[in-house]
Amino acid sequence: MTRSESLFKEAVNYIPGGVNSPVRAFGSVGMSPRFIEKADGAYIYDADGNRYVDFICSWGPMILGHNDERIRESVIKACENGLSFGAATEKEVEMAKLICSIVPSVEMVRMVNSGTEAVMSAVRAARGYTGRNKIIKFMGCYHGHSDAMLVKAGSGVMTSGLPDSAGVPAGCTADTLSAVYNDLESVQELFNQFGEEIAAVIVEPVGANMGVVPPAPGFLEGLRRLCTENKSVLIFDEVITGFRLGIDGAQGYYQVQADLTTFGKIIGAGMPVGAYGGKKEIMEMVAPAGPVYQAGTLSGNPVAMAAGYTQLTILKENPGFYTELNAKGDAFYGEIAKILKEKGLPYQMNHAGSLGCIFFTEEPVVNYASAKTSDTAKYAEYFRYMLDGGVNLAPSQFEAMFLSAAHGQREMEVYLELLRKA
Ligand code: PMP
Repeated sequence: MTRSESLFKEAVNYIPGGVNSPVRAFGSVGMSPRFIEKADGAYIYDADGNRYVDFICSWGPMILGHNDERIRESVIKACENGLSFGAATEKEVEMAKLICSIVPSVEMVRMVNSGTEAVMSAVRAARGYTGRNKIIKFMGCYHGHSDAMLVKAGSGVMTSGLPDSAGVPAGCTADTLSAVYNDLESVQELFNQFGEEIAAVIVEPVGANMGVVPPAPGFLEGLRRLCTENKSVLIFDEVITGFRLGIDGAQGYYQVQADLTTFGKIIGAGMPVGAYGGKKEIMEMVAPAGPVYQAGTLSGNPVAMAAGYTQLTILKENPGFYTELNAKGDAFYGEIAKILKEKGLPYQMNHAGSLGCIFFTEEPVVNYASAKTSDTAKYAEYFRYMLDGGVNLAPSQFEAMFLSAAHGQREMEVYLELLRKA
């Protein structure tokens, strides 16, 4: 038995399913998870000493590569002054100013501890601001695990949400309406029916939780228009795309501005951080400035702020960073598409900048329904083959691949060579 296997055997006795987040389990690829001991640059090392080229990057935040020395040093320095005060600090002001200076639509920002919290709070602020209850989300978009967001979406437009998880009362999702990603008409229909009741539309500007599904031309612009016409709040969930597609995220990449934006892990550089921000008149609704309650003992934690501030500063001060990273994505995913085409396999290679995903289907993947046509058994086989060859991929079809600044030609070749030989 490997050390990972024996750790997992022990873990299941004490942690539900042996993991602290379901996506870490290897259930859908028919294995037990590899336990990770350390990571550096583009590489991650398991408890048995195996080394892998890592295309997960902690699900996005390690955009500079793992264990970046500058971030590590800033964390160590912050730790020397104490781990938490539960009180206001100068670093929080610097962090808020930095985010507002980078993202044009963000005039005020509140730090929280996860993407889930950011979304839950942004939706509350939108409801408080508009005095309306209903929200529109898209099938296949994930916005964290707060009750109102856990809506199972069937095919076609659903007018009332059904909870996707045990333990979520139907009442909690009754105001969650589901629309079809990349289908403006499905959104228009909901506005026709519920216009005056809709507080917000929330969307992943690039779907990155049903594999990778980029927005069709005009889709985000159309959402912007519908929200403005109906006085609803447009929320971009940029937990994945923020500071990844570009310094100003999907909003800069696609040139569409949101009213509220949610951020996650990437602004903590690997520390547990999230944030939501946007128009001043909406954000001023949040307590203690306004009547929308939202709080957090560890929010704006000084160690987390040090890490995040350092990462965002490095990104901001390197104007060529995203041109290079996105060009790397175009070349890498382009080469994957080429190899798969030569093999004559039914596949779709979707990508946006440094995010990418292979689907094992003949159908173009443009929404949740088409993403679900992917042969997940084939994905599992591909995953296991890559892992054996020293490549760490998401253990599920419906996730993204992430590149970082530390992924050089050599690391990408490890993957490409395996694919060529497959
Ligand atoms: N929104 C999006 C778009 C996400 O991808 C995720 C998680 N990957 C979340 C929200 C929730 O973030 P967290 O896991 O930090 O709660």
